[in-house]
Amino acid sequence: MSGRILIAAAIPAERILLRATLASHAYDVLLASSAQAVLDHAQGDRPDVILLSETLDGSCGIELCRRLRADPETSRLPLILRTGAGERGGRLRALAAGADAVMDADTAPSIVAARIRSLMRRVASGAELDDVVRTPGLADAIDVIPHTGRVALIVPAELSCDLWRAEMQARIRGPLRVCRDDTALTELRAGDPPDAIVVVENPAVPEMALRLVSELRCRSATMRAAILLVQSEPGWDRAVMALDIGVDDLIETGFDPEEVSLRLRHALARKAYEDRCRAALRDGARLAVTDPLTGLANRRFAMDRLRQIAERNRGASGAFAVLALDLDRFKCINDTYGHPAGDAVLAEVARRMEGTLRQGDLLARMGGEEFMAVIFGCRLDQAARTADRLREAVSCAPVRLPDGTEIPVTISIGVAISDGSASGRPDPAALMAQADRALYAAKADGRNQVTVSSHAA
Ligand code: GH3
Ligand code: MG
Ligand code: MG
Repeated sequence: MSGRILIAAAIPAERILLRATLASHAYDVLLASSAQAVLDHAQGDRPDVILLSETLDGSCGIELCRRLRADPETSRLPLILRTGAGERGGRLRALAAGADAVMDADTAPSIVAARIRSLMRRVASGAELDDVVRTPGLADAIDVIPHTGRVALIVPAELSCDLWRAEMQARIRGPLRVCRDDTALTELRAGDPPDAIVVVENPAVPEMALRLVSELRCRSATMRAAILLVQSEPGWDRAVMALDIGVDDLIETGFDPEEVSLRLRHALARKAYEDRCRAALRDGARLAVTDPLTGLANRRFAMDRLRQIAERNRGASGAFAVLALDLDRFKCINDTYGHPAGDAVLAEVARRMEGTLRQGDLLARMGGEEFMAVIFGCRLDQAARTADRLREAVSCAPVRLPDGTEIPVTISIGVAISDGSASGRPDPAALMAQADRALYAAKADGRNQVTVSSHAA
């Protein structure tokens, strides 16, 4: 993120003042005075933030904001709208038009810079998630963004906030929790974590809200929530500090349920989008180590896990067994019943074996009709009994397809056990090679049987 800011305003003095402020913070500044120039820059130069005034040459900033939001190419460009000084109606219209942040035209330069920093930080962390969403195969298109979520309203302890609660509840669609500022950190540890938090400053101790925000930002239940600070009265220093410690949005003019809910809509939409991107990332990571046909762990996961197991399970108490499993004459099944039937057999065999093992044991599909299991806390004879239960579970009944076809299936298994008496680390490759040798012996002996390796590794 290069720090390129587009300043759009009709009045030259306004552009010059903002350019001087931003240039002193080492941003690259682009200037525009008309809607067309803004559209050209937005599409051509892709600024990191657009700072848009309500009045432009021959057009209205709010209308332009709506246009930028409606165009998929520019809809996600971070945009701050500067509206008439102290004009609540303009702020509300700008928020409804989709501006990321709204501030009065006479906002102090230090707050303008802090707003830009806050937006750039948010955009930079969101950009990584955007990349995930755009990676083919990692996530389905994430488009429907709800404007609802769980909201926590933190208010000064000595204030009765029944009216605020009622007004907010009428405007937001999700659940609302109201907490006192002196107990909020404890209260928010319990229950579902909020998606957005509105912190209302206490006029008697305004700095308390800043302390609270710092704490909320580092607690796991609240660190990802959108935070909106409502100042009891304007205070430049506090506003700059609030934005720099992680407040996402700021109202400088006291609690206003309508403005708070409009700002919340935006914050909740962004939080929902980020949550979905993170979930897609988690799903993608899980799928990378999962075999899609059977839902079992894949070879990549199994090999890494076996290395970890070998590292952690030294000595007699940590003995574990490695089983190499291979379906018998599986090629015949494919040839006789077709490949899709073979797939169904693989999935059913995996299900049966999974149902036989204990929670915590590992079962993976290594490829084709080959599987590996790792079972814990057992001696060689116990491992052999477990292997025989697996063999029995696979062969006890034919696999029945939806069309009624019944396919008999058997499996051969080789067992190797880690050397519990040795003080050194078990060697995963040697264990697998032994289990494989035992498996070949089981095949050579006629299949549908368990063979135990005579050595320990
Ligand atoms: P053996 O008893 O000696 O193990 O004989 P086999 O037929 O099971 O062994 P072979 O290695 O000759 O054949 C394995 C077959 O598994 C060949 C391949 O087409 C089939 N196969 C591999 N992956 C899949 C799959 O994902 N789905 C299906 N249906 N078949 C697969
Ligand atoms: Mg086979
Ligand atoms: Mg095979």
